Amino acid sequence: DEVGKDRAVTTVLAVANQKGGVAKTTTVASLGAALVGLGQKVLVVDLDPQGCLTFSLGHNPDRLDASVHEVLTGDLAVQDAVIDTEDGVALLPATIDLAGAEALLLMRPGREFALKRALAPLLDDYDTIIIDCPPSLGVLTLNGLTAAQSVLVPLQCETLAHRGVGQLLRTVTEVQQITNPDLVLLGALPTLYDARTTHSRDVLSDVSDRYNLPVLAPPIPRTVRFAEATASGATVLAGRKNKGAQAYRDLAENLAKHWAGSELATFSPGSA
Ligand code: ADP
Ligand code: MG
Repeated sequence: DEVGKDRAVTTVLAVANQKGGVAKTTTVASLGAALVGLGQKVLVVDLDPQGCLTFSLGHNPDRLDASVHEVLTGDLAVQDAVIDTEDGVALLPATIDLAGAEALLLMRPGREFALKRALAPLLDDYDTIIIDCPPSLGVLTLNGLTAAQSVLVPLQCETLAHRGVGQLLRTVTEVQQITNPDLVLLGALPTLYDARTTHSRDVLSDVSDRYNLPVLAPPIPRTVRFAEATASGATVLAGRKNKGAQAYRDLAENLAKHWAGSELATFSPGSA
């Protein structure tokens, strides 16, 4: 299988945007499940104290006694915090304790490197590790960007979507200059995309022109199935015919081929 990997190198991908509600968590869960469907071994990391990724993968953050928080503070080996999910991805979960990690890490030397150090022992165990960053540009997101090889920016195609993108890209540049010179900005992923109107397309071409940002294919359509899946705790890609799930499968294939050496497929908002 050209897209199943022989785990020579683990790919670490951060999904980041300091704006909430742009489908970061949905992207991490769905892309992770889709990569499992391609035969990969996948770990997803919940870096948001709200624990939405943890919850959407069927675990109640309030009932966990080990989480990424204890791993970041150095109190627990990462292997002891990783749990299984019904979607087939391994999960490094978050609990509300993570809200305190920000303050704890700030007092430590090398605070941006805590996650990178924590994940190091797992690098032979997974094909892909995907990090769900919280909706801020604080020390947790800096940890996500420092631990990653590449970063994907979900972008909700609505008016004012560009607000904050400049600040995020500056943060990515600073991380490249200071803590992670090898970090690659893959591009924006259009989410909650409505192909029936020109509005989504206009917003997208405005943002990609303004920031010279590649746009990844395919755009993820808005579909009610995602809200349903989150509410029921059902596996994220259940319901094979749904368009959103198919888009994430196509994205998984695009990224897996890219990591195997092909050029990344991009979407040009002007032409579709
Ligand atoms: P973030 O992690 O960026 O805050 P989420 O992934 O939690 O964003 O998504 C925000 C909300 O949008 C959630 O209620 C989620 O179910 C919903 N959502 C995400 N993707 C889609 C989609 N393609 N279609 C419809 N709703 C979606
Ligand atoms: Mg989220």
